[in-house]
Amino acid sequence: MNKGNLIYEGKAKKVYETDDKDVVLVDYKDDATAFNGLKKGTIVGKGVVNNKVTNFMMQLLEKEGVKTHFIKEVSDRETLVKRVSIVPLEVIIRNISAGSFAKNYGVEEGIVFDEPTIEFSYKNDDLGDPLINSYHAIALKLATKEEIELIKQMAFKVNEVMKKFFLSVGVELVDFKLEFGRTSDGTIVLADEISPDTCRFWDSKTHEKLDKDRFRRDLGNVEDAYNEMSKRILGQ
Ligand code: UDP
Repeated sequence: MNKGNLIYEGKAKKVYETDDKDVVLVDYKDDATAFNGLKKGTIVGKGVVNNKVTNFMMQLLEKEGVKTHFIKEVSDRETLVKRVSIVPLEVIIRNISAGSFAKNYGVEEGIVFDEPTIEFSYKNDDLGDPLINSYHAIALKLATKEEIELIKQMAFKVNEVMKKFFLSVGVELVDFKLEFGRTSDGTIVLADEISPDTCRFWDSKTHEKLDKDRFRRDLGNVEDAYNEMSKRILGQ
């Protein structure tokens, strides 16, 4: 499959056309941003870790019956995925309080919830990705009622599969962000990435942060955290 024109360059990935109109190639970069692009930096080796970790998770989820955009890993940083139109929603699932939840609702980090929570942000950099509810998403025609229902079900299923897996490698899955897309025939699939950039991972014993919060909060040992997650997930 030949790498064609660059279609899109985001904060952490580039997307290229291929010979097949329904397939694109994703190329993961080491660039890191936080706070809607205000903080910028490089995390050496992040692109390789995020590519491989995402692909491992997508394949695990496929095995458990979740439809994803994953097709094939083609190099350390590159993967072929189904071309989708992204539903402009960030879907966030939380098992433990942290980040904006703790800040917005005035609680400490680390409260374990009885049930996971779900929330949506409208993917729109100019507006700063505002929090919206499912009625707003339907009113704004970001997705249909049926699509929202399916996305909710899929997101909770992803949480169950991932929570169980991460527990087995000594990691608490605190929260994470998912994105969904529509394939050319309108099927909703899980898209984007699942990595230390988009999930909060805490060591089960020490509660040490093993994710992008080390970069966001200048905690140091950022590369070590990404490599540690890679080792636990992939055994390398
Ligand atoms: N997240 C993400 N991209 C975003 C915002 C959040 O991947 O643009 C992830 C983040 O890594 C965390 C979860 O979603 O795992 C919840 O993030 P939160 O709402 O607490 O926002 P933050 O504190 O990161 O600003």
